[in-house]
Amino acid sequence: MQILDGKKAAQSIRDELKLDTAQLAVEGKKLPHLVAILVGNNGASETYVAAKVKACEEVGLKSTLIRLEDSITETKLLDEIQELNTDPDIDGILVQLPLPKHISDEAVIHAIDPDKDVDGFHPVSVGKMVQGLPTYISATPYGIALLLEHYNIDTKGKHAVVVGRSNIVGRPMSILLSSNSKYGNCTVTICHSHTKDLGAFCRDADIIIAALGRPQFITADMVKEGAIIVDVGITRIADATRKSGFRLVGDVDYESVAPKCSWITPVPGGVGPMTIAALMKNTYKACATKN
Ligand code: NAP
Repeated sequence: MQILDGKKAAQSIRDELKLDTAQLAVEGKKLPHLVAILVGNNGASETYVAAKVKACEEVGLKSTLIRLEDSITETKLLDEIQELNTDPDIDGILVQLPLPKHISDEAVIHAIDPDKDVDGFHPVSVGKMVQGLPTYISATPYGIALLLEHYNIDTKGKHAVVVGRSNIVGRPMSILLSSNSKYGNCTVTICHSHTKDLGAFCRDADIIIAALGRPQFITADMVKEGAIIVDVGITRIADATRKSGFRLVGDVDYESVAPKCSWITPVPGGVGPMTIAALMKNTYKACATKN
């Protein structure tokens, strides 16, 4: 069993981006600028945004964090996005989800200029991805694709089972894996909460992408010998042996599943760092296409 080490792969992407960004500076060109909008004080969102801003700084990208009150109206937020859309200094815009209940995620995603949609959630970006056209691919599926590429995983002709069909992970992942690309050409099955006998589908999989948000759900009896496992889930579970009182686990029961696999991502340190690295790549691209 070998580890698909997201920390290492993400570091190599960041090192590359650092050199590319330094080169832009040498040439006197504009540096990529990402704006992250954080509405309210959701603890997990604070952590994710802080990690994104830190990663930007590390590679020399400009980043601005806009913090808005929980009570902001949808109209005000849309106005704010509109201003960023027209600001030539800003290359990428991301709005950290989830948003407060009175604001529509959909309205906000649709308001972002597709040219600055570095999260790849806008229907224009998704539509282009489906058609195999150049676009921003949403960060988690793109990060997973980059991870598979980093470790030279040959996906061609393999049966990939994606568990989860969310717009931000499962569904775009299924499209990428089925695309005619270096990280695609799989035969893909997409499973969800209405799938009958999930275990049977998983047991037939050469690659399992677990993105269902159910801690340690995929167990050894659901995995065939030699499978490649990508665990997207991140959930905090209570752990009295830890100082913090909790630990992070994925959607895969790592202890029992890992010995059966050819490759597996750890949690943490697998998909998480790749998601951020993919966002950085999208931001760099957003600027490079203008430079
Ligand atoms: P989500 O929007 O809640 O979607 C979960 C999907 O899993 C849904 O399609 C759901 O089916 C399906 N599902 C739920 N229970 C199932 C079951 N028992 N059997 C089969 N399918 C089932 O979640 P998400 O946003 O995609 O995120 C999934 C996980 O990935 C979460 O733990 C999240 O924290 C994590 N995540 C990690 C990163 C990262 O960077 N590492 C990024 C994003 C998300 P239905 O559609 O039928 O409801």
